[in-house]
Amino acid sequence: MPYSKVTPAVIAHLESIIGNEHVIKDHDALENYAHDETPGYFALPEVVVKPGSTSEVARILRAAHEYRIPVTPRSGGTSLSAGAVPVSGGIVLSLERMNAIKEIDTTNLVAIVESGIVTEDLDKALAPHGLFFPPDPVSLDSCMIGGNVAECAGGPRAMKYGVTKNYVLGMEAVLADGTIQRYGGKLLKNVTGYDMIGLIIGSEGTLAIVTEVTLRVLPRPRIIVDLLISFACVNDACAFAIDVLKQGLTPACIEFMEGDVYRMVARYLKQTLPNAEADAQIIVEIDGSNKEYVKRQYDMIGDCALKFGALDVLVGESTADRTRIWEPRKKASDALKEVATPIAREDLVVPKSAIPELIEKLKKCALHYNAHMYAFGHLGDGNIHADVGIEKGKTMTSEDISALRQEIYRITVGLGGTITAEHGIGLSKTAFLSLALDPGQIRLMRKIKHIFDPHNILNPGKIFASGSSAPQYKGKDDPK
Ligand SMILES: Cc1cc2nc3c(=O)[nH]c(=O)nc-3n(C[C@H](O)[C@H](O)[C@H](O)COP(=O)(O)OP(=O)(O)OC[C@H]3O[C@@H](n4cnc5c(N)ncnc54)[C@H](O)[C@@H]3O)c2cc1C
Repeated sequence: MPYSKVTPAVIAHLESIIGNEHVIKDHDALENYAHDETPGYFALPEVVVKPGSTSEVARILRAAHEYRIPVTPRSGGTSLSAGAVPVSGGIVLSLERMNAIKEIDTTNLVAIVESGIVTEDLDKALAPHGLFFPPDPVSLDSCMIGGNVAECAGGPRAMKYGVTKNYVLGMEAVLADGTIQRYGGKLLKNVTGYDMIGLIIGSEGTLAIVTEVTLRVLPRPRIIVDLLISFACVNDACAFAIDVLKQGLTPACIEFMEGDVYRMVARYLKQTLPNAEADAQIIVEIDGSNKEYVKRQYDMIGDCALKFGALDVLVGESTADRTRIWEPRKKASDALKEVATPIAREDLVVPKSAIPELIEKLKKCALHYNAHMYAFGHLGDGNIHADVGIEKGKTMTSEDISALRQEIYRITVGLGGTITAEHGIGLSKTAFLSLALDPGQIRLMRKIKHIFDPHNILNPGKIFASGSSAPQYKGKDDPK
């Protein structure tokens, strides 16, 4: 669909809505909004707007709808599927100024926030009330609640606590034509009509712009203990994780790093890490409010680890020890960027029992393309992040990158999995959607999109491929 350009008259209109200090036109400043955290994707917006209220968002969308200008909503810009890249130019609508906490209701255990609040800031504000917001994407120091809702973000604790959709009770959203709608509220149960909240969660900014969210929060666990468990191989680590869950033990998370990743992070951090020779490192977090309960859980988990041949079990009770245990896991992506040129950051999910086979097959597949696959992620829920990199200074054509990724997805789907667990289709996986969903499902989804956004101005180019070819790798980070 042909779009209109952002003309000086459009800019003047936008400035009349939010003031010229909140309208960015300067080329260098626009570059900050031309990419997110996905390697290889870059597209300049024509203008960036930073509204300060829902009514301003509505007026901006009304104008964009009238002029037929694409709008890419943006929160923290940490997307790993190029979801926040304004591939059709137009307007980037940044929610960063809308970061207020409107209410913390300690009676009903609910927080009402504007969608631009940074996820960690919400958690910090909840802590003095003895509360917490369980979904904890590893990017929580920079991603925002609106982005988490749009992606249905998970995180390490998703295994015990679930993902963002399990916490959204109410929502205010602005539709493509500028209509403001409110759904749900402080209600734990609500089946009045279709589940509009469920539809918008995970819709990646293609159906509506989320401006306010009513979130369920929980009492904050007072005791947290982390275990770092080293295994000789991925098979043992996986069998251990499955057994822990079968026994009815309830750790908050079971995270995984293969040995190569752990050693790479050790080099990156210039540190000697414990048991670095092992081929699988597992972090198990146990939380609760009762010391004896937590101790009993980690004793049993430790015993289970030894039963499955663990080489070592380290216990972190103090904040300093826990931070040391988590550091390699949190730095895995940064370390990869340092040692290799990243060409893909995949977010695969398979039944837990298939993880060893998935990793083995993906490694072989990457090697075939002279690339290396680094696996880490959320073992407890079968969600493996497979970062693929090539040696610094080497190149790979975009055709080969596409072929490699296609193979990765075929392997994953062949094992009963799917192509994204928590990062979304965005722009980077549009060409591969049909590997995971059948044509009838995609047609129905397109119809839903058309009802919400008949002129396709909301985050166009995302989720659905506009042509049949794989997306083009553009811009300065192009590994080609
Ligand atoms: C180091 C690192 C670790 C990560 N770890 C995790 C993890 O553990 N779990 C996980 O799930 N993800 C993870 N991610 C991915 C990313 O952080 C999440 O997808 C996050 O939810 C994106 O939030 P954001 O605020 O950065 O959104 P953005 O990147 O700004 O936007 C993401 C998408 O949401 C849309 N959008 C943004 N705001 C709104 C809004 N208000 N209304 C409608 N649409 C909107 C955008 O158009 C885009 O399509 C990680 C990323 C990095 C870089």
